[in-house]
Amino acid sequence: MNLCPECGNPVQDPYKTWPVNRKKSGSNESKETFIGMFDCPECGNRFRAGVRETPKDGLNTKSMAQKIKGIEVEFVNTLKNLREKLKTLGTERSNLLLEIGELKKMAEAKASALESEIGMLKEEVSSLKQLLGVGEMDT
Ligand SMILES: [Zn+2]
Repeated sequence: MNLCPECGNPVQDPYKTWPVNRKKSGSNESKETFIGMFDCPECGNRFRAGVRETPKDGLNTKSMAQKIKGIEVEFVNTLKNLREKLKTLGTERSNLLLEIGELKKMAEAKASALESEIGMLKEEVSSLKQLLGVGEMDT
């Protein structure tokens, strides 16, 4: 609680605060001190005074930490989403590769079937040629 130096009215919350680093050498006190700007509702006097507790509003370490935490959570979520996406893409890729493999096998089977069919047709042609007495090209 701070008192207005003009009228002595107690002023609750500062409208603006900023941290002050008052490091005493040798002391382990890490508590941050703040300076606050106060606006007296009684006489309108503006004054500055030291604030012990962490202020509720304004840019302070607590809200900064919360903001950073929020960013961290967002970042982790993004990473998670990316990982899931990569996983899905990986699965999709392997599925496609499997499908391609099967299609290749099918194509190869079809090609070999066609090859043997062609071989058989060639034999048929040559036997027909023999039967008809048409000159053979091979010999
Ligand atoms: Zn006042």
